[in-house]
Amino acid sequence: MQGPRVDLETVLSTATRLREEQLEELFSLSLDLLCVAGGDGYFKLLNPAWERTLGYSLAELLEHPYLDFIHPQDREPSTNAANQLLAGSQLIFFENRFRCKDGSYRWLLWNAAPGPDKSSIYALGRDITERKHAERRLAADYAVTTVLAEAPSLAAAAPRILRAICESLEWECGAIWRVDEASQSLHCVDLWHVPHLEIPKFEAMTRSAAFRAGVGLPGRVWANRQAQWISDVVADSNFPRSHAAIQEGLHAAFGFPIRFGGDILGVFEFFSREIRQPDGAILQLFDAMGSQIGQFIVRRRAEEELREYASYLEAARQAQEENAKRLTLLVKELDAARNRAEEATRAKGEFLASVSHDIRTPMNAIIGMTELALQGDLSRQQRHYVETARNSANSLISLINDILEFSKGEARRIELNRVEFGLRPLIEDMMRSPEIRAQQKGIRLSFLIAPQVPEFVIGDPERLRRIIVNLVANAINFTEQGEVTLRGEVEQQPQPEGMVQLHFSVSDTGIGIPAEKQQAIFQAFTQAEASTSRIYGGSGLGLAICSQLVELMSGKIWVESETGRGSTFHFTARFGLPQRSEEAGSEDSVTTQYRRSSGDTKTITRAERPLRILVVDDIPVNRELAEDFLRRRGHMVALAGSAREALALLQHQAFDAVQMDLEMPGMSGTEATRLIRQSERKTGVHLPIIAMTGHASPADAEASLAAGMDGWISKPIDFERLFAIVESAANGDATRPATPGPGSAERIALSRETLVRSAGGDSELLARLIRMFLADSPKRMSAIRTALAKGNTASLAQAAHAFKGALGNFGASRVVEEAKNLEVCSRAGRLDEARKLFAAFEKNVSHFEQALRLVGLAPKARRSRKKNLLRKIRRRKS
Ligand code: ADP
Repeated sequence: MQGPRVDLETVLSTATRLREEQLEELFSLSLDLLCVAGGDGYFKLLNPAWERTLGYSLAELLEHPYLDFIHPQDREPSTNAANQLLAGSQLIFFENRFRCKDGSYRWLLWNAAPGPDKSSIYALGRDITERKHAERRLAADYAVTTVLAEAPSLAAAAPRILRAICESLEWECGAIWRVDEASQSLHCVDLWHVPHLEIPKFEAMTRSAAFRAGVGLPGRVWANRQAQWISDVVADSNFPRSHAAIQEGLHAAFGFPIRFGGDILGVFEFFSREIRQPDGAILQLFDAMGSQIGQFIVRRRAEEELREYASYLEAARQAQEENAKRLTLLVKELDAARNRAEEATRAKGEFLASVSHDIRTPMNAIIGMTELALQGDLSRQQRHYVETARNSANSLISLINDILEFSKGEARRIELNRVEFGLRPLIEDMMRSPEIRAQQKGIRLSFLIAPQVPEFVIGDPERLRRIIVNLVANAINFTEQGEVTLRGEVEQQPQPEGMVQLHFSVSDTGIGIPAEKQQAIFQAFTQAEASTSRIYGGSGLGLAICSQLVELMSGKIWVESETGRGSTFHFTARFGLPQRSEEAGSEDSVTTQYRRSSGDTKTITRAERPLRILVVDDIPVNRELAEDFLRRRGHMVALAGSAREALALLQHQAFDAVQMDLEMPGMSGTEATRLIRQSERKTGVHLPIIAMTGHASPADAEASLAAGMDGWISKPIDFERLFAIVESAANGDATRPATPGPGSAERIALSRETLVRSAGGDSELLARLIRMFLADSPKRMSAIRTALAKGNTASLAQAAHAFKGALGNFGASRVVEEAKNLEVCSRAGRLDEARKLFAAFEKNVSHFEQALRLVGLAPKARRSRKKNLLRKIRRRKS
């Protein structure tokens, strides 16, 4: 039997061919890289996967030793692996990087075994580049996150981030750029590179460069606000540092922005010596990372600011502590210095006080002796010499008094009195003496006290007088024409309970004070112009004393002035306000306080001039009564419960008159008066004393007059009479009024002697003047009346001014003052006030006329007229 003949060889060869074909297919279709490498270092066989993976043709790969395609860093381990295989190792796994045709590298994982001939290597390689990259990205992410969590500041974080990214992603160099808002450009903050990399030029350029938006890699990241990749900077047209990059072998680069909210704070950039194809995953990763870093920067900045603020606070606290310490030290030093200065000032003050006191004693003797000499018979020449000596001595004593007062102030030895006094009467009184000087110089002197100024205040009236008189005297002194006005008002700032701050000002139309001298004049011995002292005299102490007194009165003193236009001196002073329900001191004790009546003050008309009256009576009710009436009349009253108390009081205080009870337990009124008169013999002063007696007998009257009293009045007291007697006695104008004159005419007392003297000693002339005045005065009054009725202020001012001149001839200061006030009011257009003034003025002018009529009569006619009046009174009494 015979079947088809099968050729085994053919079958075998077919099978072999088929296997070869399948192997061939497997070989060419495999995604893994298959190769046979010879011991000579060249590839012997390669499958097409090589071409697909690396981009070379198989011929190119076969042409060169395979080590040429391996990453330089991986050559040594790759050679070692090959040698091991050739030496007989069975199977080896290892990784290395193969360069692609475009210059980039791919990671390959090798599985290799020796070939059957032992002189070649059979190897299978798998492309693990993607896995490797994913691992690195993860590592980079982890490393950067760790840095951000740990680094205390951006400065500390920056190099660590650069290094972490470079190392984990295998980039060799990295830099951070900061956006500079001011110059609108990017500046390099830091640069890091792997140790073996030598890029001096590139580093220098990077550190000094500034890129605007869109320029270079950082500028592009900034402008596009997203991560950018450059596979090879050498081939990039927008890479200003390409020259250095070429020289120093840098190729691939990528950058990403640091974001916070919508802002780009900076840019990170990285470089490699390899050409690297864009890695979308890396770009995505770092886009997210940029925001994380941005948040970190802002957070750390805030922390930094907080830390800075805290350290600033701490520094401020320390500085404050230091300052407080220094201040305490300084205060101590100042305290010591002030104590030393005060001690020195006090010692100086005491020295000056004692020296001036010692000078005063002999000066008094000089003045006394010259006065005595002047009373003797002297030739004209001798009289002139002695008068000059007396005047100089008087100037000297007033200077010494100033020095004494000033040094008391310096030595803090001035103690202010605290007594209650009527402010308006005091001011009226103190304005009398400057009035004479003002009249002589033809200067208008007036004073205006605001209605809000309280009637009574508690303070030191004598010291207040000192200040005002000094300022007014200066004002008149340094004014050649125009006017000087004193104003008083209440300062509005709140004051402690029961206190009032008054503001006084004295303004003049005089020479003024240059601005640079306005501070200095308040210092002792300083005058505005040395030349003025030659013209006007003065010691330069007045204002210094005023300053001391004002300071003691818790006030201030200052001046406003313009050269050639005049000056206004201001001062404030604090006074107490009397309590209406205030208790008087003990009835039997000496009451040194001037008190005001708490009773109803209803229009007893006010006295022409306020007087300081001492009422001496052992019966409290009598004292109270007398005080009440005298106060209502506008006088200041002090009380004494016995003659001895009165004598004690007179030692310390000046009075214009004393109202003395005759019969008192202990010392009687007559005895006290005798003692007073005795002591007056030494001083030459005469204190008017009015007796009060319960008996009203002629014997009483005689006894009191014999004791040296100036008048008497019987109880119960007729106060109209009391006023007339006390005031005329105190004014020293009337003859001793043992018997009061009739009614109102007594209220204006005129001294005939004074008037005759004012008429040049010619009594006939005086009589003529009086007749003329009396004939003229009704016309002038009616002119004023008409002007008032018409409301014509101009003619009112004119009429008042003219009448003032006529009245002034007789030195009638009260009515002159009223005429002047009338004139001032009408000039200021204050008609209502003028009408009020006129009512009082009219009454006083009529009193004045009566008094003038009495004086104007020939002495004989006067006596007979007086006799007639007395007769009338007696008849009325009986
Ligand atoms: P004196 O006794 O010299 O007047 P004061 O202390 O009272 O001393 O005044 C100091 C100086 O201030 C005066 O010499 C004068 O130069 C200047 N002075 C004071 N008041 C006035 C004024 N009303 N007008 C111009 N100068 C004045």
